[in-house]
Amino acid sequence: MPDWLALYYDDPIEITHGEGRHVWDFNGRRYLDFFGGILTTMTAHALPEVTKAVSEQAGRIIHSSTLYLNRPMVELAERIAHVSGIPDARVFFTTSGTEANDTALLLATAYRRSNTILAMRNSYHGRSFSAVGVTGNRGWSPTSLSPLQTLYVHGGVRTRGPFAGLDDRDFIDACVADLKDVLGHTRPPAALIAEPVQGVGGFTSPPDGLYAAFRDVLKAQGILWIADEVQTGWGRTGDHFWGWQAHARSGPPDIVTFAKGIGNGMSIGGVIARAEIMNCLDANSISTFGGTQITMAAGLANLGYLLEHDLQGNARRVGGLLIERLRAVTAQLPGVREVRGRGLMIGVELVKPGTDEADPRAASAVLEAARQGGLLIGKGGGHDTSALRIAPPLSLTVAEAEEGAAILEQALRSSY
Ligand code: PLP
Repeated sequence: MPDWLALYYDDPIEITHGEGRHVWDFNGRRYLDFFGGILTTMTAHALPEVTKAVSEQAGRIIHSSTLYLNRPMVELAERIAHVSGIPDARVFFTTSGTEANDTALLLATAYRRSNTILAMRNSYHGRSFSAVGVTGNRGWSPTSLSPLQTLYVHGGVRTRGPFAGLDDRDFIDACVADLKDVLGHTRPPAALIAEPVQGVGGFTSPPDGLYAAFRDVLKAQGILWIADEVQTGWGRTGDHFWGWQAHARSGPPDIVTFAKGIGNGMSIGGVIARAEIMNCLDANSISTFGGTQITMAAGLANLGYLLEHDLQGNARRVGGLLIERLRAVTAQLPGVREVRGRGLMIGVELVKPGTDEADPRAASAVLEAARQGGLLIGKGGGHDTSALRIAPPLSLTVAEAEEGAAILEQALRSSY
């Protein structure tokens, strides 16, 4: 296997089909999918409503051209604008989260006439030249090569770094002081880009209100706030439809990016911004495969299902139970430092027992053991491979949550 091919498991699994919260491998073995693809299967595998919409659309037309109007795209843009919480919102579709963030950076730098960007340590924003250039997670971030000048600030992670151990208020104050210090030594940045809950970074979140406090400082200087909702959007965090809403005191972000779950596996990404900012896009700025009829049909059916069945509420209820259950079963395990998260975005941080040191070996062992037990989970990326990541489809049932927690408990016990 080439080094750059990042497959999970020593003996890689070949997935052949799925249904609900389960997938099957080539040998007919069934697994409970606690990673929802890779947070892409937002509602359920093979959801009949999405399958029907996609096959009917395929029978009409798959893709015409960005040069013509296409009704499914207009309808999905209108629905997303409606639920965005951003006044006078406009939506531009891309094909991935990376391309969405690239577009957001393009907009912010054009709007502000600055190529300086503030970003969070330990963040992940994608793998294009500019998205990787604002990514703080060491493994992905060759910033010296980036076309952008990126300055990193503290706040995304609570358990490491100079402010670990501070209570919420002091943590926020320390991060705001750090932000002000960085701003005091640079030309005016275009924007701050941040994930409300860091995804690849191990499902870590700052205290509620951190980005509202940042926003006060940024707004005074006209600096934009880009919320990267690629993992956190559409109700995944349970309490809120968007991750940024935990930080909403000083209003919505200027730009929101999304991808992953909206197409239930179909490749949809996009940017939401108020018209004044979106108008910085050149009229000829197109994404050939952004907004194709076939992906938009999937997005419309998927978003409709999510809203009609209140899957955000389900994420809050079932996710709350799952976090409690995982905390209870791991309380006596010395290698589990913390179970954290919100809704159905749950991180389990592993350390070498009796230390604060990350334990990537244990994370890989737990993944293998869980797989043997019939459960698929994720782990953090880059240098943060010691956090397990749990993000099932938002339709998870209580029985499935309990079954998954029991398998994970066994996997943790057998790995230490
Ligand atoms: N932003 C965040 C927060 C992500 O987690 C990811 C992917 O994991 C991306 C952007 C990049 O998205 P994509 O892989 O669709 O390009």
